[in-house]
Amino acid sequence: MKFGGTSVADIERIRNVARHVKREVAAGHEVAVVVSAMAGTTNQLVTWCQQTAAAHDAREYDAVVATGEQITSGLLAIALQDIGIAARSWQGWQLPILTTDAHTTARITSIDAAALVERLAMRREVAVISGFQGLHAESGRITTLGRGGSDTSAVAVAAAIRANRCDIYTDVDGVYTTDPRVVSRAQRLVKIAFEEMLELASLGAKVLQVRSVELGMVHKVRIFVRSSFEAPDAVDPHGVPPGTLICDEEDIVEQQVVTGIAFSKDEAQISIRRVEDKPGVAAAIFGPLAEANINVDMIVQNVSADGRFTDLTFTVPAGDFERANRVLTKARAVIGYERLDGANDVAKVSVIGIGMRSHAGVAARAFRALADRGINIRAITTSEIKFSLLIEAAYTELAVRTLHSLYGLDR
Ligand code: ASP
Ligand code: MG
Repeated sequence: MKFGGTSVADIERIRNVARHVKREVAAGHEVAVVVSAMAGTTNQLVTWCQQTAAAHDAREYDAVVATGEQITSGLLAIALQDIGIAARSWQGWQLPILTTDAHTTARITSIDAAALVERLAMRREVAVISGFQGLHAESGRITTLGRGGSDTSAVAVAAAIRANRCDIYTDVDGVYTTDPRVVSRAQRLVKIAFEEMLELASLGAKVLQVRSVELGMVHKVRIFVRSSFEAPDAVDPHGVPPGTLICDEEDIVEQQVVTGIAFSKDEAQISIRRVEDKPGVAAAIFGPLAEANINVDMIVQNVSADGRFTDLTFTVPAGDFERANRVLTKARAVIGYERLDGANDVAKVSVIGIGMRSHAGVAARAFRALADRGINIRAITTSEIKFSLLIEAAYTELAVRTLHSLYGLDR
């Protein structure tokens, strides 16, 4: 069982979480719980680091931000004991959850499952584990897994103890076909395949940290996203509560062609006009951007008519727009181009579905529908199970609603 920040935001909610845990224990389950920091706490800790020194030691950042989860694991253990459930808190370093030394974005390398499993069985004691944090064994230092990392802690613990399920309790009751704030008819998905969820999470759906989905896919951990705000006693521990199961594609019987629509307004477009159409040009452009740690997403290049000059368009995160422009201006002599054009008011709308593998013309229908609404498409990229369209940001909501109905997701 994993509980996110809003689910443990105050003492009353921590007591509520304890009742959810008690229900599962009473149903005969052996339970490990992973908790996040109380809502807002990690942001506060990050801000304090920045205020102390803008450029700070990553090891000390980890020492500071890992404390949020230490508070909630201790409090939940107390709340459980208070209602008669044996419980013990575990920090990342105590289990231990071992990680790489990439401070602030460490990766889990191993978890000592034997010890954990023995504790669950022998002591009949709920393990309350601090998410988000781990230990780099060689240096003996505390690490953290990147923002949203307690999802990854939960899936990793579930994999290590071979849990039947990994229930992610959160402030929504599952994964939706799109953002319900934009499309009121968005539907909760009963099931979604790992690969589809990976695309949704990468494209900006904020339900789960991307890496947790990757881990679930590799270790075949069935992840169940469900609400922590249901009354704990109203839930039947043996029944199927509302939620979304993230599972293998074989476990989904009635596969839709399109499963969900994601969008992001956090995009900027850069077009490089009249670059020479010759080997090495793309390397000259994207090399310096990579060195500057700027993530390039959609890339569109034409084949020149005269064999000499062409245009190249790509997108970067909106926050990197200015920096990308500076990098390219600096490299102008090496790249050789006529001018740079750019736009910050663009959005990326993506349509995702494993069914696209076996259905032709899925994207063509979207082009027609958007054209009928006068929405111009600036760039298109596709992969096996998704396609993304770059459009003017002002049309984002209209485009998402149009596509949501087009692919039958309103019902
Ligand atoms: N508390 C951490 C964060 O806010 C980890 C998490 O909540 O998943 O990023
Ligand atoms: Mg989260």
